[in-house]
Amino acid sequence: MSQHSVRVRFAPSPTGPLHLGGMRTALYNYLFAKKHGGTFILRIEDTDRKRFVENSESYILETLKWCHIEPDEGVGYGGPYSPYSQSKRYHIYRMYINKLLKKGYAYYAFDTDQDLDKKRKEYNNYGLTFSYNSRIRMNLNNSLTMTEKELHDKLRSCSYVIRFKIEPGKKLKMHDIIRGNIIIDTDHLDDKILLKSDGVATYHLAHTIDDHLMKITHVIRGEEWLPSTSLHILLYRALGWTPPHFAHLPLILNKNGKGKISKRNTNSLNYPIYPIQWKIPKTQIIIPGYRELGYLPEAFVNMLALLGWNPGVEREILSLQELINLFSLEKIKKSGVYFDIQKANWFNKKHLNKEKIFSFLFEEIKKRSISCKKDYLCKVIHLTIDRIHFIHEIWEHSFYFFIYPSSYEANFFNKICHENTISQLENAKILLYNMNQFTSVHLRLLFQKTKNKHKIMQLFRLALVGVLKGIDIFIILEMLGKEESIQRIEKLIYKIKEKI
Ligand code: GLU
Repeated sequence: MSQHSVRVRFAPSPTGPLHLGGMRTALYNYLFAKKHGGTFILRIEDTDRKRFVENSESYILETLKWCHIEPDEGVGYGGPYSPYSQSKRYHIYRMYINKLLKKGYAYYAFDTDQDLDKKRKEYNNYGLTFSYNSRIRMNLNNSLTMTEKELHDKLRSCSYVIRFKIEPGKKLKMHDIIRGNIIIDTDHLDDKILLKSDGVATYHLAHTIDDHLMKITHVIRGEEWLPSTSLHILLYRALGWTPPHFAHLPLILNKNGKGKISKRNTNSLNYPIYPIQWKIPKTQIIIPGYRELGYLPEAFVNMLALLGWNPGVEREILSLQELINLFSLEKIKKSGVYFDIQKANWFNKKHLNKEKIFSFLFEEIKKRSISCKKDYLCKVIHLTIDRIHFIHEIWEHSFYFFIYPSSYEANFFNKICHENTISQLENAKILLYNMNQFTSVHLRLLFQKTKNKHKIMQLFRLALVGVLKGIDIFIILEMLGKEESIQRIEKLIYKIKEKI
């Protein structure tokens, strides 16, 4: 494969936001292009106006930007094969459909919806499925069954579609990079519509023409398109063109439920499905995406890349550049892959970086007018980073290094509200007060010998943190220092006294 010839496209239809599967298709196209020094193109396939959803296009552009996988060419980026929106290319499709008609690869069909419905019902009654194919097309209302004159008249008076004429009795060999060789019997194919009655090309025709004219070398797309690929190959041949290479990606399956992840079953999933937030046009309801929920784009991309592709190295945490270097279509799995939100969270945790957490925490303390040294902030981050999966979780795991607990865990507080606790705390306070070296090592040594050690530790935790959670209590004591620790213990004593 020549290093400079690779051209791939991500070709979403603007029917709503991207979901995980669509996003992964974009990513694999991007990784493949970059690996081979090629071109990544964004084409918007908007011929089906009935399914058009406003803002989908800007959503797609924003999502790709957030993931740092921006197209080299395409909608929003321009390029030598403009326009990249199919709705602006109707004249081109018309030209090629005429070619197909002239060469006898396509024909006009005048059957009305009612005619076809009737046929479907008749077939159904015999337990059969009706399909417009080579076996029955000669009994239907199309240009193959009429004279030139009849056709001429019909074209002027009736609405029509144009269908592809499948040549029966052939064994079509095709190759998929992921699935290997596939042989299709053309007897099983139906005469798909290429041009609808409104004069607009269908996806099958439009994308075949565009892939050829835009010099696409590899079509990397979802598995749902595999059954149509034989038709696409026949279309290329009919137009005298060489088909590109194909790679059909496995489905992403829902681990906790049934079936594949798609736009249609988002409600039944208990995890986000969209990369960035989506505002439903009709209701204006906002559905948060991975971005809003605190996932880092580099973690999101890393997780998605490994969902169905084996990088062939032991490490799973990989940067975008590493993903590019390792990427190969041959290592994509054939079978469906399960999406696991826990694993997504793990990826996020592994991608957390201290600088970003620092900026976040710095803002949190600024908001509360707390001033503290940079070193102290860095130490806090160092001590608590293992406890978080998301940057925004840092505050709930570290607030006690900056502020007094605003309340005490009620259950435990009620249990310890008696005189005995006060005297235990008073004694412990004296021990702390008399320490010369207020370090975690010395504190640990000192309290190892105390009786009721476990309870004292819990009381310290309640006084300093407010809940029975947090990092090692001796380290918290050292971080807060003698004076602050004692003040917090005194406050707890006061609160207990108030209660009893
Ligand atoms: N417009 C199609 C879709 O949104 C793209 C299929 C293809 O990549 O050929 O699924």
